[in-house]
Amino acid sequence: MQDWEISVWGVRGSAPVPSKEFMEYGGNTSCFSVKRENHVIIFDMGTGLTRLGRELIKQKIMRFDVLLSHLHIDHLLGLFSFQPLFCPGIEMHIYGRIGLEEDIRKLLSPPWYPLGVEDFSAKIHFHEIEPEKSFHLGEFLVSTIKGNHPNGSILYRLDSDGESFVYALDCECDRETFLQLSEFAYGSDLMVWDSYFIEKDFKKGWGHSTWKQGIEIAQEANIGRVLMAHYHSEYTDIFLREQENIACKDKICIFSKEGMTLRI
Ligand SMILES: [Zn+2]
Ligand SMILES: [Zn+2]
Repeated sequence: MQDWEISVWGVRGSAPVPSKEFMEYGGNTSCFSVKRENHVIIFDMGTGLTRLGRELIKQKIMRFDVLLSHLHIDHLLGLFSFQPLFCPGIEMHIYGRIGLEEDIRKLLSPPWYPLGVEDFSAKIHFHEIEPEKSFHLGEFLVSTIKGNHPNGSILYRLDSDGESFVYALDCECDRETFLQLSEFAYGSDLMVWDSYFIEKDFKKGWGHSTWKQGIEIAQEANIGRVLMAHYHSEYTDIFLREQENIACKDKICIFSKEGMTLRI
């Protein structure tokens, strides 16, 4: 059985922060990948996608799937500097909420961008999905659930051969969400978690959670490890290191850093 390789390309929420106080954890917005043999599934297209794009070209990966949590701009910015789009023969399949195709076509057009979807050498295919439905991508079963987030978000779970991975960014964990998510993520090996806030900064209605809630849900739902991500754009390396020291006394907790790779 092949390992799943989970790579971290972008850890930041809201906006990229490319300055030196943020370089240890990383300044790029949300982007993660799961690779098993030659099948690559990308989660979100934040600015972390730029570096992943170079890696896909280097590894000659010609076809890949992208699962989008939602269309807030920090999750799409990497699309504007994604080099595989300029490579003939590449096939990119983007999955996301109903209306996805029209909205991305709007974004990839003047005056926001000089090129349209049809101008790229790569072929982009859109797949609009209803949350709560599941579908197959190769040997992976993909399950989905609605996130609690302004304008909505989709959370994903991948299962294959008894292994599982959950992607739960841009979701505010109130009591109802806690119960739904505990069921959805139950028994998974690794969950990427929205840790935009620490507890004392938490703002109700913003659609984000805390690392503490991530640990609570992982304990409740018997999740192997929880990978914190989507950090607030004001949280510096010094601040995150302090938080990590407190949070990661619990061994199931990992603070994500760009360039990190984990295996399940
Ligand atoms: Zn976000
Ligand atoms: Zn959002």
